[in-house]
Amino acid sequence: NRIIQDFFMKGEVLKPGQTLNLQLAKKIAKMYDAKISFDVEEKEEVRENPLEEIERYFEQKYSEGKDLVERPPIVTVMGHVDHGKTTLLDFIRKTRVAEREEGGITQSIGAYQVETNGKIITFIDTPGHEIFTEMRARGAQATDIAVLVVAADDGVMPQTVEAYNHAKSANVPIIVAINKIDKPNANVEKTKQELVNKLNLIPEEWGGDTIVVPISAKKGQNVDTLLEMILLVAEMQEIKGLPNGPVRAVIIETKLDRGFGPVANVIIKDGKLKVGDYVISGKVMGKVKALVNDKGQRIKEAGPSTPVMVVGFEELPNSHGVVYTVKSLEKAREITGKIAEQEQKELKRKRHMKLEEILKMMEESEKKELKLILKADTQGSMIALKGAINKLQSEEIKINIIHSGVGAITSSDVMLATASDAIILGFRVKADGKARKMAEAEGIQIKTYSIVYKLIEDLKAALEGMLEPEE
Ligand code: GDP
Repeated sequence: NRIIQDFFMKGEVLKPGQTLNLQLAKKIAKMYDAKISFDVEEKEEVRENPLEEIERYFEQKYSEGKDLVERPPIVTVMGHVDHGKTTLLDFIRKTRVAEREEGGITQSIGAYQVETNGKIITFIDTPGHEIFTEMRARGAQATDIAVLVVAADDGVMPQTVEAYNHAKSANVPIIVAINKIDKPNANVEKTKQELVNKLNLIPEEWGGDTIVVPISAKKGQNVDTLLEMILLVAEMQEIKGLPNGPVRAVIIETKLDRGFGPVANVIIKDGKLKVGDYVISGKVMGKVKALVNDKGQRIKEAGPSTPVMVVGFEELPNSHGVVYTVKSLEKAREITGKIAEQEQKELKRKRHMKLEEILKMMEESEKKELKLILKADTQGSMIALKGAINKLQSEEIKINIIHSGVGAITSSDVMLATASDAIILGFRVKADGKARKMAEAEGIQIKTYSIVYKLIEDLKAALEGMLEPEE
């Protein structure tokens, strides 16, 4: 009625029950300074793939096979916490990588190469299966072989099983390194038995096809044999890539470097990356200004399986994404432009989905309200938490748990919080990398706790803060 009246006063006639078109709806929103978005029904578009041409090229080359050549294996070290992954990677790096060049940059580039019997192996320097799986989620598989580290004094543990499952689901061959054999309580036979019982991995010496190497990462014992086994498996796998032509590379990590600006540490899968090339990764483009290898030396070009720091991106690309080279600046602009546009659309679409819920909450906005998104490790914790939080409700303040769930805090939680002005509380769970980045960009608060009373105490303080008269 109010709208009809106000419009009438302006000399425009609206009828009750009239359908609003977008133009009119916008006008109304503007008149009342309303912060409302409109979800105009969009026809399901046939989504264009900006990378289609590039992807088709690689598909074709790989199916033809004639230009493929062998490349060094890329290895990820996985396993349960404290079983010695870092120690192993450190030992190999220290003993095998030549001294850094004078004046070289003494920073890790996320991966390094070692030489054994005249052959090269590339190791990803961050142990664990998380990066590995995130890369896969983004359509890139950097790892050719997984080394599963199992401590001989501890045996197969939950993260051993998890890592094994990740590698297996990616079809990556697994070599088991039974570590810490120098310890008095090491039990190699028992550990092997657990490999059989818990993972169904039968060691070669027991008639199976799993290569198992007992090592001491700390003392360096048998690490040579492990490297030889990696090369052996690599040979059987026929690990190949395209030596020339356009580049496809996988990002291991990205960072804002003080001197270099946005850099991406990548491992090349195909082609030869050169200084001066135009690169794209998602919606970010750049021109390669410098390439730095794992010894801190500046190099002119990098081929398959080589880890290299790429300097020259205009912004930070997504970590774990894929980098491609394109022929020209125009092409780079065109493709990244399209990707940016699509991402924007996707974001809007997601926001709109949540809008109904927000509008519903606004109806009761007379009361002061604290909106929460709760994530916990188990259903049991969640029930306990909700019970404790409900006791904090008062006449003046309403606590509205707009979303709760079991599992890590994800970007979709952050999206919801952004759209509804909520804070996110995690109980014995953490936010994943993507969620953290998004939260930072959107100014969303994420707090994580491992003790219930700490969470409740903080919440109480926040509520008291809300009750305090504003100055
Ligand atoms: P990660 O969590 O798997 O990366 O494990 P770390 O490499 O950090 O190792 C955990 C602990 O085990 C450290 O204190 C290491 O010094 C120790 N450790 C690792 N490898 C060995 C080994 O071969 N022998 C012994 N005795 N200790 C080891």
